[in-house]
Amino acid sequence: MHRPAIDIYAGELLQTTEDCHNGLREVFCTQHHVFIYAANGHGAWEAAISNTLSRGDKVLVLESGRFALGWGGMGSVMGLEVEVLPGDFRRAVNPDVVAERLRADAAHEIKAILVVQIDTASGVVNDIPRIRAAMDASGHPALLMVDTIASLATMPFEMDAWRVDVAVCGSQKGLMTPPGLSFVAAGERAMAAHPAANLRTRYWDWTERQGEEHYQKYCGTPPEHMLFGLDAALKLLRQEGMENVYRRHRLLAGAVREAVATWSVDGAFEFNVTEADERADSVTTVKMNEGYDSRALNQFCRETCGVTLGLGIGGLGGFRIAHMGHVNAAMVLGTLGSVELGMRTLGMPLTESGVARATALLANQLRASA
Ligand SMILES: *Cc1c(COP(=O)(O)O)cnc(C)c1O
Repeated sequence: MHRPAIDIYAGELLQTTEDCHNGLREVFCTQHHVFIYAANGHGAWEAAISNTLSRGDKVLVLESGRFALGWGGMGSVMGLEVEVLPGDFRRAVNPDVVAERLRADAAHEIKAILVVQIDTASGVVNDIPRIRAAMDASGHPALLMVDTIASLATMPFEMDAWRVDVAVCGSQKGLMTPPGLSFVAAGERAMAAHPAANLRTRYWDWTERQGEEHYQKYCGTPPEHMLFGLDAALKLLRQEGMENVYRRHRLLAGAVREAVATWSVDGAFEFNVTEADERADSVTTVKMNEGYDSRALNQFCRETCGVTLGLGIGGLGGFRIAHMGHVNAAMVLGTLGSVELGMRTLGMPLTESGVARATALLANQLRASA
């Protein structure tokens, strides 16, 4: 990325754009269109809504944390009628409840469903194929729109096989690129809904971005250096192989969970997500129990160890451990070691070392697969 800007109309950059589109199609597992925006994830949210929906359309937001609600909130400002299917900040979306709500919508007033694959606040992973199956079982034609910002390239996501209509992502999480780019993948049904959508605006517009000129793909000057970074990151993912990328995340997430489970025995913490199989492989949200405060621990990790824990967001308190994207064992074990050092230094209850249990678990798994 540290290089002079190049010609934006011809030459090398056209190939970079094509490589980025192809690489993104590979990670989304789609043959369909992918649009690249000089924007963050919030921009991709707006792009997804504005290209497919019209003022007054009803959307159903599946609550499982904070992010789908944020997406829906943006939709209501844009003029959508937003209904939230109530959920729980400690559980995944229940597909049976989705099916029930859709069956009650006999007139098919709901035009789209907004859901996140991994909610970065709660640390929940939603089962997208089961939500798709619930939609199918109720014979409902709503578009399925999935926020994969904290999940893509950390766990499987198969846009076409799962018949997801719109998927959004950002550059800075699993895709290992600085913040500043976001992506929207659009399937056939989304493209079919696009011409009639009256929330379309020029900057986000898919029709405009499919124009002949390279310039049109970005509705202006391409964010060249970001594209150089993205291109390199997509090549790293291809080199590692997606199955290996998912496995790395699964193993490292398992190590984090083993440590958190060990620390939780003494009562200061617990997992925010109550069901083990609903915990995400990209982020772990830790809830502090009554009488404990995460602030001193966060401060210790930041100031003494140089490790920034995620603050609890969405009113959850506690802290979050990120294990997504450009992460390896050194980073994750360093983070766990810092938390444990903090716990000991601050005199928090700690009978058994979570780090020791995490490394033992990893060693067993690595031996088993050797
Ligand atoms: C980070 C995140 C967002 C917001 O992305 P920004 O780039 O901060 O706008 C949206 N959804 C999820 C699931 C996220 O993790």
